[in-house]
Amino acid sequence: MTRLEMFIARMTSQRACIDYAADLTAGMVGPVYELGLGSGRTFDHIRAKVTDRAIFVFDRAVASNPASTPTDQQLLLGDVVDTLPMMLAGDGATVSFAHADLGGHNLEKNDAFARLVSPLIEVMMAPNGVIVSSDMMYFEALEQIGLPDGALEGRAFIYRNSL
Ligand code: SAM
Repeated sequence: MTRLEMFIARMTSQRACIDYAADLTAGMVGPVYELGLGSGRTFDHIRAKVTDRAIFVFDRAVASNPASTPTDQQLLLGDVVDTLPMMLAGDGATVSFAHADLGGHNLEKNDAFARLVSPLIEVMMAPNGVIVSSDMMYFEALEQIGLPDGALEGRAFIYRNSL
């Protein structure tokens, strides 16, 4: 596969997983968390798909396309290691859908960070809440569920709080 083909496959996979999670969590009322704003591409898609819930977006800084930049009220700026516990203290375990796309090109670093951040995400999820992640996560009690058509095994991971 060429790099271009892999990029297209990864973006197609991301869209399929976001659409699937939006469907799985339809009717839930808790907020949606976008972890990793980046250029704002997936944020823009999530806000088009999930129109009935608050969306909060986490990143260290805003570097998004102006057409897909969250409002100040939607933004939580800083390291997620600090901002996630802050949100938990205010909102509790209410998140209906979290999309985690926090990694870069270094797979070892991504894995180490996924281990660090997994417990912070796990405690925020509402019953039946769904997490879509670009990296494998290390949850204690959340169930890993199958990927939808169009998603890439090993490049996308979906978990549900089925307790
Ligand atoms: N989903 C985005 C899009 O569609 O444009 C791309 C996200 S990009 C792969 C990863 C983002 O996560 C970067 O913008 C980076 O600044 C952010 N990030 C990585 N580690 C973070 C951390 N510890 N706290 C907050 N943001 C972080």
